[in-house]
Amino acid sequence: MQRILIVEDEQDIADLIGFNLKRAGYEVMAAYDGIEGSNIALKERPDLIVLDLMLPGRDGYAVFRELRRDSRTVDIPVIMLTARAQTEDRIQGLEAGADDYLTKPFSPKELLLRIQAILKRSEAPPGMVDFTCGPFRFDKNALKFYLDGEPAELTNTEFKLMLFLCERFGKAQDRNELLRTIWGYSDAAHSRTLDTHMKRLRQKITPHGAWIETVRGVGYRLAKPQE
Ligand code: CA
Repeated sequence: MQRILIVEDEQDIADLIGFNLKRAGYEVMAAYDGIEGSNIALKERPDLIVLDLMLPGRDGYAVFRELRRDSRTVDIPVIMLTARAQTEDRIQGLEAGADDYLTKPFSPKELLLRIQAILKRSEAPPGMVDFTCGPFRFDKNALKFYLDGEPAELTNTEFKLMLFLCERFGKAQDRNELLRTIWGYSDAAHSRTLDTHMKRLRQKITPHGAWIETVRGVGYRLAKPQE
């Protein structure tokens, strides 16, 4: 039986999550503050952790950093829970390396689906592991791209570009760096190529084209659009 640790100080949310996960066949542990959360995680080494960011004692980021620094917990997948207004939290959470995040209020079913997806992914043999960023998913082995869970056609170049941006989520990427990495060269003559590809890529990832931001004077960045 797979074991899930819920670190959440709001008792009714913790209970609701716990109830649904137990019903889905998971063993559930709960901690109601950050320090207890760290301690249980290190001692019990659950298969997955649902980690609220706003916690008394030690906030979710601090707990997350501690778990990532410790060899006993470094590989445990973490889903972060954030409050709706905290867009920065979500970006920081993904940059810090959380496997996923959910914004409150969320449905227990949504959380269950995310948990199942992550646990399935971490069961896959090495090399099969794919990469997910917001609505985008990459199967690096098969070079397949999925948009909102549905297969979508990208050329190899578009796939490489998109993956490069997603793996550097939230950080602006320099035009020349993009050209060098994807095409192997960077000179003014090929600058247009980059813009043409980006334009096409934005169209292909409709309705999520706004995730690719133009950063004036720098290049491009992948980020979740402001709601
Ligand atoms: Ca909280």
